[in-house]
Amino acid sequence: MVQENRIVENFLEMVKIPSPSKNERAIGDYLINVLKELGLEVTEDSAGEINGGNCGNIIGVLRAKGKKKYLFSAHMDTVVPCEKINPIIEGGIIKTDGTSVLGGDDKGGIAAIIEMLKVIKEKKIEHPEIVVVFSMGEEIGLLGSKSFEIEKYSIDYGFILDSSGKPGRIITKAPSAARGKLTILGKPAHAGISPESGINALTVAAHAITKIKLGRVDIETTSNIGVVSGGQATNIVMPTVELDYEARSLSNEKLNSLLEETFEIFERVCNEFGATFENKVNVEYPGFALDENEKVVEIVKKACERINLKSETVSSGGGSDTNIYNSKGIPSVNLAVGMTKVHTLEEYIEIKDLVDLSKMLLEIIKG
Ligand SMILES: [Zn+2]
Repeated sequence: MVQENRIVENFLEMVKIPSPSKNERAIGDYLINVLKELGLEVTEDSAGEINGGNCGNIIGVLRAKGKKKYLFSAHMDTVVPCEKINPIIEGGIIKTDGTSVLGGDDKGGIAAIIEMLKVIKEKKIEHPEIVVVFSMGEEIGLLGSKSFEIEKYSIDYGFILDSSGKPGRIITKAPSAARGKLTILGKPAHAGISPESGINALTVAAHAITKIKLGRVDIETTSNIGVVSGGQATNIVMPTVELDYEARSLSNEKLNSLLEETFEIFERVCNEFGATFENKVNVEYPGFALDENEKVVEIVKKACERINLKSETVSSGGGSDTNIYNSKGIPSVNLAVGMTKVHTLEEYIEIKDLVDLSKMLLEIIKG
């Protein structure tokens, strides 16, 4: 069935192919070949052109007439540094030599999907219709999944492999998030000669900031100003201040009402001081919250049970392609891959987790 050596070999081969966001061509070509060899109908969509990258989403379909349609997805791009990755195996763990990320985020997910497909082919295992999507540009704003025309495939359930933690961890909730700049335009003036003819943008911002909600707004909602920039010299009344703002909530409604309230306060305070408010905050991705007894969650829990893997449902603090697929109406969960310390030079993955994950996928297709 699942072959540890084969998974490891495939994983090592893939992590050695650099694939920074919008530059996934090499790994994309590699995956097109692999999927074709495994007998899938392979296409590449126009996500690359749409988003200014050199590779689209790679889509493979393994037909099964009259059966349910399952989406299995992982992203091809990795964060930097990833120009040269030298993976090292040590004590059942695959890590880097400390000069790059490993790229287990998300090539661990890709490796498990490929192993599942290999076992299906070898053992002629009965399966639902399987749609595999290897997405581009996930790390820089979920670009591939946003562009992917999922409605063409009438998917029943989505299984996205892109979470840290041990296999068995099922992300059923993730926040919606908004991010961008809030700018206050005051008026410059000589701070010593005619301060009264200026409007200090920082003073205006300070008044607004004491009135808006920041930090943990409620159990599901957070907001933060992370960067403040403005000013030229001590003798100039500060004309402009920019605030880098973000807000997240597990509830789309709560996020929207928080944003509305925040913008309204900035607008009002700016008016009071005669300043101008510019708002460039956008909702980056919508959140999702699946019920415990939702079929897609149940399928994974039962799959884990059959291979004696402890399962748990948790909510995540970040966004993934899963957010986009749920927002497009496909009930989808994000599954833990075993990747650890992702987005750092200490990133590693346990070989056992890659094996467990592949076994889990082979159980999921029975559900
Ligand atoms: Zn990822």
